[in-house]
Amino acid sequence: MRPGTKRLWVPAGLVALIVLLALLAPLLGLPDPVRQDVAQRLAGPMPGSPLGRDEFGRDVLSRLIWGARSSLAVAFASASIACLFGTILGLLGGWFRGLGEFLAVRSMDIVLCFPPVLLALLVVTLLGPGAGTLIMVLSVLYLPGFVRVTYAEVLSARSHDYVEAVRALGASAGRILTRTVLPNVAGPILVQFSLAVASAVVLESGLSFLGLGVVPPAPSWGLMIRGARATMAQAPLLLLWPCLALTLTILAMNLLCDALRDAMDPRTATARPRLRLLDRVLPGLVPPAPNAEAPEAVLEVGGLTVEIATPRGPIRPVEDVSFAVHAGETLAIVGESGSGKSVTATSVMGLLPPAARPVAGAAWLEGRDLLRLPEPELRRLRGGAMAMVFQDPMSSLNPVHRVGDQIAEAIRAHRRGVTQAQAWSRAVDLLRRVGIADPERRARAYPHEMSGGMRQRVMIAMAVANEPKLLIADEPTTALDVTVQAQILDLLAELRRETGMALIFITHSLGVVAEIADRVVVMYAGQVVEQGSVPEVFGAPLHPYTRALLAAVPDGDTAPAGIPGVVPQPHAFPVGCRFAARCPHAKPACEAAPPALEGAGEGRTVRCIRWAEIGAKKAEAVA
Ligand code: SF4
Repeated sequence: MRPGTKRLWVPAGLVALIVLLALLAPLLGLPDPVRQDVAQRLAGPMPGSPLGRDEFGRDVLSRLIWGARSSLAVAFASASIACLFGTILGLLGGWFRGLGEFLAVRSMDIVLCFPPVLLALLVVTLLGPGAGTLIMVLSVLYLPGFVRVTYAEVLSARSHDYVEAVRALGASAGRILTRTVLPNVAGPILVQFSLAVASAVVLESGLSFLGLGVVPPAPSWGLMIRGARATMAQAPLLLLWPCLALTLTILAMNLLCDALRDAMDPRTATARPRLRLLDRVLPGLVPPAPNAEAPEAVLEVGGLTVEIATPRGPIRPVEDVSFAVHAGETLAIVGESGSGKSVTATSVMGLLPPAARPVAGAAWLEGRDLLRLPEPELRRLRGGAMAMVFQDPMSSLNPVHRVGDQIAEAIRAHRRGVTQAQAWSRAVDLLRRVGIADPERRARAYPHEMSGGMRQRVMIAMAVANEPKLLIADEPTTALDVTVQAQILDLLAELRRETGMALIFITHSLGVVAEIADRVVVMYAGQVVEQGSVPEVFGAPLHPYTRALLAAVPDGDTAPAGIPGVVPQPHAFPVGCRFAARCPHAKPACEAAPPALEGAGEGRTVRCIRWAEIGAKKAEAVA
């Protein structure tokens, strides 16, 4: 049973009772609700009529129960129609934006301009009063509310990492909308539904009261209030019963929808901290073995340049980036924030935001240029041949689905014919493989019931579910504590060794690079400034920025040397060397023209016009 389900019983029972009473009205043996008996006009409670008679001598209890049928039918029908169409329009407008967004949202603004009663009057005048007309009017009136709520929620949900993570797994737009976005926006939609039903019951009563709704003598709560108002002085109780019925129904609906929202959102359940204890006793750090073999390039990026349109003109956060990663190899991309590491990774995955686009270069994977592949083909590759692990596992996992379901979904998105049971069983195997104890039970847990380390293991299990050839890990350990970081690094290294996949590890930590990588690409201000094997680059850095980064690593008792200044913003990149403002070796020539990436030995490149000179001086100083 989902957490929070117990809270559903009372409000669900109340609503069920009201609806059941309305549905069973013909079987309850009640007096005819429209049969008049003038002799009993305004009679008080009596045998056979426990609530008395109205101004025409009709039985009040019978009219109350029969009236519930019309009031609730109108309310539920209009709220359901508005909810269905409003949710679809809001989902499409919020997800696809552009013309769909304009049509969905702006057309609703027009509807909102009409005062409800005026709109009802207009439609009733054209079509005549009746329950059908009322449902039509109320559906149109409530439609904008659903569109706007869904639209706003989708806009918010689409920026979450878990949606990006599902995109990275190659899911189609339809699948993402129905399986990922909709469950996350369902809570506010449900609340809107409860408000619409409650409001429709009141509006139906009001419009019937004005003679624009249910046609007399058919019973409805609105007509009962209208009749009771005329005789309020003689029989005040006649007003009480329909008002009480209205209040009770609205209250029950609101309680039910609140409880439903809570039941559908597992985050409202209390987290179980005892699960975290188990994470602490997971296997300790095992240093990864260096990988000697690098037989073939799985991914080859050449001259990658990304442009983003901004109000101040186009900027290039990534320019002329080239590197290759081989099967079974770990390549680290390192640099400070703003160096272009993540933009490079998202370009390769085809996950750049709409304002950004690659304008030059190529990224070859399995003989295909990822930068020029159409979206459907990219989608097939994402989560299949290439996968990505994001920085924050909490925001990358869908909070309203069990982790086992999310891994199973990743499997089924790429393997047709795999049943849910088979995918679930594979998900449990994967959880076991990534070191999660008691995987059968953990597969049924929600992300918030796990520790940060376990969530990142789940993300890794999802990423490797379809045996990718390339795994990009974008700062996957940044949000974790040191011990868990080491465990995750160890796990990734182990998986890489076992599967032979190529691993690109994005980080700002040179300590992590030393621990996990075979080769390293150092990036600064959108460019590669140095590249080579980890022992070579760490042993004899050639670029002043690499030296500065290494000097900034704490080392025993020696205080680390910080790097003065900050990485320049893309709109302020200088013409010459981008590191010049922070470089202790800068000369006027450095700022005159952009330095080229030069070869500096086997597999070694550096972007500095003085690298050989600086290296020679260092050697002299040491000698
Ligand atoms: S080109 Fe000049 S400013 Fe740039 S890193 Fe080399 S020495 Fe420093």
